[in-house]
Amino acid sequence: MRYDNDNIFARILRGEIPAFKVYEDAQTFAFMDIMPRAPGHMLVIPKAAMRNLLDADAQALAACMSTAQKLARAAQAGLGADGITLMQFSEEAGGQEVFHLHFHVIPRYAGQALGRPGQMGDMDEIAALAKKISAALESA
Ligand code: 5GP
Repeated sequence: MRYDNDNIFARILRGEIPAFKVYEDAQTFAFMDIMPRAPGHMLVIPKAAMRNLLDADAQALAACMSTAQKLARAAQAGLGADGITLMQFSEEAGGQEVFHLHFHVIPRYAGQALGRPGQMGDMDEIAALAKKISAALESA
């Protein structure tokens, strides 16, 4: 399977589509999922072009995991999350819809089930959560 340079996340990386960024370093970029399955649902992507777990290089995977851990801790500190669910889907049969490697970092709250996928979130609420996560990242 080939990498499509015009997938949504490639366009976000190029700044062609806006995103609520929460973190960036040399190898990774992290932003809010606009269809959150729980308050504070984030996505971590490598800056380099790769489709999913099947074609990713090990260094990019390690960098994404390091960023995912930072985001998880920021969700705990900044949003009061009780736990974290980390998810990754590869290829259509694996549930993948956007074909640039990404990891879902989903803050979890005691007693709250995951929401259904594909439900557009409230943009003001997402922006406010992004601010709290960014602040927690900065003070970590
Ligand atoms: P997956 O490919 O792992 O199934 O999930 C893709 C994720 O990308 C979904 O959780 C979906 O809500 C999210 N998503 C789809 N389009 C956009 C977009 O334009 N911006 C952002 N921030 N997230 C998106």
